[in-house]
Amino acid sequence: MIAERLEASHFRNIVSCDISFVPGVNVLLGQNAQGKTNALECMYLFARGKSFRAGSDKELVQFGERGFSAQLTFTDQKRTQTLAIKMQDGVRRRTRNGAEVSKAGEMIGHFRAVMFCPDHLLLVKGGPEERRAFLNVAISQFDRLYVTHYARFLKILDNRNFLLKCAKKGQYFSEEELDTWTYQLAEVSAAIATTRMAYVKRLSPYTETLMTALSGGKEHLKIAYEGSVMGEGEEDIKAGYLAAFASHRDKEILAGCSLFGVHRDDLRLEIDGTDARNFASQGQQRSVVLTLKLAEGEVCKDICGEYPVYLFDDVLSELDEGRRAFILSGAEDKQFIVTSCEKDLFSNAHAIYVSDGHFLDTLS
Ligand code: ATP
Ligand code: MG
Repeated sequence: MIAERLEASHFRNIVSCDISFVPGVNVLLGQNAQGKTNALECMYLFARGKSFRAGSDKELVQFGERGFSAQLTFTDQKRTQTLAIKMQDGVRRRTRNGAEVSKAGEMIGHFRAVMFCPDHLLLVKGGPEERRAFLNVAISQFDRLYVTHYARFLKILDNRNFLLKCAKKGQYFSEEELDTWTYQLAEVSAAIATTRMAYVKRLSPYTETLMTALSGGKEHLKIAYEGSVMGEGEEDIKAGYLAAFASHRDKEILAGCSLFGVHRDDLRLEIDGTDARNFASQGQQRSVVLTLKLAEGEVCKDICGEYPVYLFDDVLSELDEGRRAFILSGAEDKQFIVTSCEKDLFSNAHAIYVSDGHFLDTLS
């Protein structure tokens, strides 16, 4: 998949831009606080359906403006497509190839990208929510049903927790309604856990070989899905959830929230037998995240038949020459869009100069 062109206006500090990209390596070059990450954030909106760093859409609108617009043109094996987002006075409008898209979820899965920014280093030492988010975003790039299941899961969890909270406070709640949500939570959690487990299984051979290659054969990474309920297959996991809910009913009422479900799961990361989540060094954390991101791209290619676009914010500049070369070595049939303050590190790349929200594309 190749991102061809990004047009945007009044998006963060970008007054207006029209940037063209080439296959291979593209680098957004500029000093600090010029708009490099803003441009990547804008592109990634189309892959993830929402910003990777803004709490609310309002933050994306340029200070003093009433809205922003952004449009991405990209080509996959079959055709060239355009996704667009316009926000005006708090109202969002999305289109795909000119046709209106009503749900945010429907924007996902067309433009596929792997994002890696410094915040993602938390994937190793941060809380389990960081690792669950990694799995959610990676799977959503190619599995539409997962996106639907996940949206349903959040709704069910919310409803169930509301009733458990009522029960905790001694307020009236319908037992029958709680049973319904309990059954549905078991069902949807089992579906999500099964998909995540299958994904981790596909990811695992790549993470093993990539980590070994990145560490020069010194370190070995093993990953495994850690479910709050484990089992062999969806039915088995669902039965496990139902049993856990049945035997912990009083405890859940006391807590006022659901103590089992895929919101409690984690991804185990182990370097040479040691839990990386607790013990990884700075360098090891970087290698693990890089490994996970590259493996994410490989699995996406196995499933979709082509590589996603790699959006790497800052992270390559801080690597040594050997590792940078290793990552970019496969760039002939991939596309990287990276940011950097130093041109010398990417001498063969297509350079786009960024200064105070303005983009000077060396192709135009
Ligand atoms: P660095 O190299 O430090 O990472 P950068 O080029 O990636 O810098 P960005 O994160 O893209 O910088 O931010 C550029 C500028 O955009 C910042 O100074 C920030 O204050 C500004 N900015 C962020 N949001 C908005 C907004 N809604 N309106 C206007 N400017 C904004
Ligand atoms: Mg930045």
